[in-house]
Amino acid sequence: MGSHDQQWQERLFIDGTFRRPASGGTIGVRDKASGEIFALAGLATEADVDAAAATATAAQRAWSERTYAERAGLLRNVAAALGDRAASFRELIMRETGCIAGKADYEISAATSELTEAAGLASRAVGEVLPSGHAGRFSLSERIPVGLVGVITPWNFPLVLGMRVIAPALALGNAVLLKPSPETPASGGLAIAELFAAAGAPPGIFQVLPGDVEVGQRLVTHPDVSMVHFTGSTHVGRQIAREAGGLLKKVSLELGGNNALIVLDDADIEQATMIGAWSGFHYQGQTCITAGRHIVARGLADAYVEGLAKRADAITVGNTVTENVGLGPMINEHQQARAQQLLDEAVAAGARIVAGGSSEGPFFRPTVVVGVSRQTRLWNEEIFAPIAPVLVVDSEEEALAVANDTPYGLVNSVLTGDPYRGIRFARGLRAGMVHVNDATPQDEALAPFGGMGQSGLGGRSGGDANIEEFTERRWLTVTPGPAHYPY
Ligand code: NAD
Repeated sequence: MGSHDQQWQERLFIDGTFRRPASGGTIGVRDKASGEIFALAGLATEADVDAAAATATAAQRAWSERTYAERAGLLRNVAAALGDRAASFRELIMRETGCIAGKADYEISAATSELTEAAGLASRAVGEVLPSGHAGRFSLSERIPVGLVGVITPWNFPLVLGMRVIAPALALGNAVLLKPSPETPASGGLAIAELFAAAGAPPGIFQVLPGDVEVGQRLVTHPDVSMVHFTGSTHVGRQIAREAGGLLKKVSLELGGNNALIVLDDADIEQATMIGAWSGFHYQGQTCITAGRHIVARGLADAYVEGLAKRADAITVGNTVTENVGLGPMINEHQQARAQQLLDEAVAAGARIVAGGSSEGPFFRPTVVVGVSRQTRLWNEEIFAPIAPVLVVDSEEEALAVANDTPYGLVNSVLTGDPYRGIRFARGLRAGMVHVNDATPQDEALAPFGGMGQSGLGGRSGGDANIEEFTERRWLTVTPGPAHYPY
């Protein structure tokens, strides 16, 4: 994907064509390591959302009447188009999100799985024939599409977080209006539109409107948008829930986390520090499923801190496009400054940095910090940076109580030499996802991904949970003869 030959330069994707926004505005597509603006995306406004919604409504009706084989066929063609463009997509993701090649490759393969699993889903939205209390009545419950789904995505995994919603929503007969983050208008939006255009998608069923808060808000409030699917911060999710609640609109929120990695006293220490480093630092700690709290049994604590610090010190940090490094830049100055502030506050409250702790340009060194007060923001808030605060506990009961002492509930991991002990511990954790003896960042297209508490509202992403998410149930009856009523 050379930077100047895309169809999407300065454009939006509306009704099957790449067109200029009503206002003529653009968003710079920024290389996060060098700061270079290497392309321009169109910047949508409310007027563009209205134009897109007008065409999507009619397109959705026709799309839902297509056979499941036709809907599945489109998703397979999109997967093939992504395969054809994998190398250029990889470069785009690396530049736009500041990640290493391995994370970009993961996004491409995960998005491909989302597409192929969703293709299978198209034929699985089955209903039920119900027994009826009325003689002769034919009574059934069928699945129907929700209609027009407004999808709002964050910047950290722009391709796969978009695709995990777009693909099942389309498979089940909905149309999608996508607003990617302004940090990733290309890999999170317009480059995805190119795949649908190449795959021959009917005009209007999938449209892309890169833009700011105003565009997101219009998607939420637009009367023709029947459902809002939001992935992003808990703070913004709460605003969207309030707005959508007032409109009595179906809403699904995939939000932030403050996830714990718990190391029990019988864990293998080498394994634990490796899993700890991956859970805490991968993609600069900028994922909802990063471990931001490392809770370690006292007997292993010194060895854990030493091993984790050694691994942190060995990680190279730099421009992932021009150098072979382990971590790239932070997404923007705001996130970087916030992370530094959380760290500084924790140090002022008595914490001690044992690895990292500083940045050079946009590159934040992986950091290990001990003695963190449980009253600090570093411990209580989602950090979104490569910082691993370690807390020492004296018993399994204390580990469980500390892990559950958070309003979030996205994912936790527990490490132990005894898998059954791990299962028992896992069942005490209040989180939508728990992994025994593996890292916190896990995702599979078939598994129900999502959180409890302040980490999410609505259903889950993945597998048959998507049928619940993107369809409504309709009770349909047929009465053979004339019915009789008293008046
Ligand atoms: P964000 O909440 O700032 O923005 C997310 C999206 O919402 C962006 O497209 C943004 O433009 C839009 N937006 C902002 N304000 C809005 C409003 N008032 N109305 C409508 N749309 C609005 O999040 P971010 O910084 O892009 O992403 C990081 C956050 O996302 C983290 O909190 C992370 O945990 C979360 N996240 C969650 C998951 C999950 O599956 N649970 C996955 C990835 C990221």
